[in-house]
Amino acid sequence: MTALLDRMMDFDLSEDQRLVRQTVRRFAESEILPHVERYEREARYPTELIEKLPALGLLGPMIPEQYGGSFTDVLTYGVICEELARVDWVIASVVSVANSLVAGSLLRFGTQAQRDRYLPGIARGEILCSACLTEPRGGTDLGNMDTTATKVDGGWLLNGTKVFISHAEHARLFFIVATIDRGRKHKGVTAFVADPRAMKGMTIGEFPMRTLKRDNLAEVHFEDVFVPDEAVLGEPGGGFPILGSALDLGRYSVAARCVGQSQRAIDLAVPYALERTAFGQRIAEFQLVQSKIADMVARTEQARLLVYRLGRMKDAGLERCSLESSLAKLKASQAATQNALDGMAIFGGYSVSAEYEIGRLLMEAKALEFGEGTSDLHQKLIAEFALGLRTS
Ligand SMILES: Cc1cc2nc3c(=O)[nH]c(=O)nc-3n(C[C@H](O)[C@H](O)[C@H](O)COP(=O)(O)OP(=O)(O)OC[C@H]3O[C@@H](n4cnc5c(N)ncnc54)[C@H](O)[C@@H]3O)c2cc1C
Repeated sequence: MTALLDRMMDFDLSEDQRLVRQTVRRFAESEILPHVERYEREARYPTELIEKLPALGLLGPMIPEQYGGSFTDVLTYGVICEELARVDWVIASVVSVANSLVAGSLLRFGTQAQRDRYLPGIARGEILCSACLTEPRGGTDLGNMDTTATKVDGGWLLNGTKVFISHAEHARLFFIVATIDRGRKHKGVTAFVADPRAMKGMTIGEFPMRTLKRDNLAEVHFEDVFVPDEAVLGEPGGGFPILGSALDLGRYSVAARCVGQSQRAIDLAVPYALERTAFGQRIAEFQLVQSKIADMVARTEQARLLVYRLGRMKDAGLERCSLESSLAKLKASQAATQNALDGMAIFGGYSVSAEYEIGRLLMEAKALEFGEGTSDLHQKLIAEFALGLRTS
């Protein structure tokens, strides 16, 4: 069964890409997976696990070699995100935020000085990244933000609050969006990259979570925080296309992570169904259980194909693939959520016991439905493309 599934997931990968998958899977299963449940119980940020990533080049798959990265094609980057997410969503998030949102933006829109300053440190694991986008009044309507950037001599003063900011306390680089003129809506949005340790007046507060406590989510407050002109990414007022580009690659890596999470639910549910007995037989022999497993496999493969197609389109040189990004993000995150639910059904009551991992996947998958555009937003975008109301 496992060999059959492996054949399906690998059928359109090159030899090199298969090798990367095998290497990352072996590393993830031996170096990360055995520790995740303990970190989870202790609600602890996995610093020690993150430190293992640079040796395999896993912190810089989208960073060119000239900056110390392990630059690879976009499809392989997706496979890396998939395999890391299959064992731990926090580790996968570290890689995805750093590469898709921050390094990708620096490479496309940064100055040479900004790239030289930050990219080598990201690849070496010395600079963890946070993306400060979401605000208390909303994360979907990003063109209508409240955080302001006011021009002063030599730089800008930031004022406002960002919420749900992953990795904030550990980050050495913030990617921040603020508006220079709320009246200009998305044309006022400006992107900044800066080291949070140099930001006087910036405070990081706890963002209390009922669950998902390892991600170290935080509230970030900016009160007259000075950032120099060199911190502007692109042009003042030119942040919205930067955000769009960052989110396009971000949606790809989040979708790939969701494929990994969907796969994990299968990997957990199949052996359990084969082992657990009821009414004198293995529950795997009940057709209703088989039906769930069949659906889990089918939706994972469907999501994987959408993600790999998107990776291939980007590798072919299409930088923005908004429709395909929305399709991949929507279907992969829904697959992860539904697979977690079906997996939980197979585990029965044990799905919510501390002994088994399957229940944890549900909250993680649901959160992935929100990040980088909610499912509602992607449905709206897909419909607008279909109706001819949107072309890019
Ligand atoms: C675990 C976790 C980690 C996160 N990490 C980060 C991070 O590192 N950085 C960061 O900036 N943010 C982060 N976020 C925030 C995340 O990106 C937002 O939660 C997301 O963008 C949605 O914003 P919101 O929660 O404010 O919902 P809202 O924007 O308030 O939306 C509420 C509801 O309204 C719906 N809705 C809104 N607009 C429309 C529309 N036009 N059409 C249809 N429905 C609509 C939404 O789909 C949703 O169901 C994280 C969130 C979680 C849960």
